[in-house]
Amino acid sequence: MKFAHGFKESLATHDFPPHWVDHAIPYSQLKKCLKKVQRELRELGLDPDTLRSLLDPGNTSTVAVQYKLNAASDSNLLRPKLTVNVHMRNGVPIDASLTPTSKEFLNKIATSISQDQWIHTSEPVAQPKTGTLDSVSAPLPVSSSAESAPQSPDEVQHPPAQPVNDTANLDATDDGTYETLEVPLVFDGEFFNILQSDVNNLDTLQTQEEERMKVEIVDLGKEVAQVAKPSRFSKNDLARWRNIFELYLDAEVFFATHEMDHGARSSQVALKQLQWFQNQVETRGLAKEFKLAESRAAFTRFLNLNASLLKNLQFQELNKLAISKILKKFDKRTSLGISKAFPTAVHSNKLLAGNVARDVCAQMSQELVSVVPQLNDYLCPVCFSLAYLPIRLDCQHVFCIRCVVKIQRRKEKHCPLCRANVVMKASTENLDFELSKYMRKYFPKEAKEKQRSNDIERGIEDFGPGYVHRECTVM
Ligand SMILES: [Zn+2]
Ligand SMILES: [Zn+2]
Repeated sequence: MKFAHGFKESLATHDFPPHWVDHAIPYSQLKKCLKKVQRELRELGLDPDTLRSLLDPGNTSTVAVQYKLNAASDSNLLRPKLTVNVHMRNGVPIDASLTPTSKEFLNKIATSISQDQWIHTSEPVAQPKTGTLDSVSAPLPVSSSAESAPQSPDEVQHPPAQPVNDTANLDATDDGTYETLEVPLVFDGEFFNILQSDVNNLDTLQTQEEERMKVEIVDLGKEVAQVAKPSRFSKNDLARWRNIFELYLDAEVFFATHEMDHGARSSQVALKQLQWFQNQVETRGLAKEFKLAESRAAFTRFLNLNASLLKNLQFQELNKLAISKILKKFDKRTSLGISKAFPTAVHSNKLLAGNVARDVCAQMSQELVSVVPQLNDYLCPVCFSLAYLPIRLDCQHVFCIRCVVKIQRRKEKHCPLCRANVVMKASTENLDFELSKYMRKYFPKEAKEKQRSNDIERGIEDFGPGYVHRECTVM
């Protein structure tokens, strides 16, 4: 299937908002424009093969072509520029090693230098470019100026060519001059105008979407904080939200942190991960167990937010693909080699920077997921259960009290994490009361369990292995 067709179909079937589709890369329009670029170059004698050989840095001939995308460094707009350096002597290009087509091109250049102008396409030009004819750096004293030939509607007529010296008739007294002139390419400029403005539009669209999602995240974060707030007097969904967010973090929907598979995910993988997450929530009945209706509503909003981010990713990916396809086509048909240069030359801080989901995801974890503290962030690094009661060593590392006691008994002086000499100095003074309170509040079940297992361990230490733990009961 041709890409143009597939692209159109993808845009239609992904259920993108219509104003997004309006902003999509106008692939067909660019393809049409590319045809004109090709014709324009061909009429100058610059078919892909000729251009390739002239652009080749290893080319030893006396004519060299340079192609730059961002000729205007002071502007954010792309301006492609094709310049030719010609070694001239007496108004005649010197050359000993050119192919016939290159010679033909050279002859055209020579004539244009002598005429001090380029004859341009007869086709009506949508945006006539002014100033592309930057002309000759030092006009040559050439008299043989051919008159412009009449132009037929479809063909550009170039003036009669001047001969190219086949043998570089080197003369010690006259080594000629180097002429640099810009080849005015109307459609080349138009092509990049279209592409640049579309990349800009897509960036703007992406910024708007991100802003919208960020507002939604802040809103939703407040809602979840409300329904997951631990309270002794009213119902809350703390445990269920914790389970849901734990699954969500495990799913690593948009970003992977594994060493094997690191960084931003493709929309395809993100979709798969998102489906896995939803399935798990479903299978474990997590959303069904919500005690508060507000939690259910908030969960739906959370899913919608993720779907929305995924859609953004899909849309941007599709457009990025369209750009890379059209640029490859451009290179194949012109040999101008811009596939690599374009992404850095064009000023795009969103689409081509590849950070579509990054900011939104970062915010999602900072302002939404973290609203519900995760057990993983409060584990003792030695026993991997809740670090309750938490002892904060002088090096600021936190361990559960049992582990610190055991390390002290072994007379190990150094913190297991940073090797600071702080363990023996620890006393009940190091108990972090605030953190302890926080753990009881957000992890009541885990704190209670930890307390119980601490008691049992101590009982066994004090009374021997026959110790039977009895829950504290009021007699
Ligand atoms: Zn521990
Ligand atoms: Zn430490």
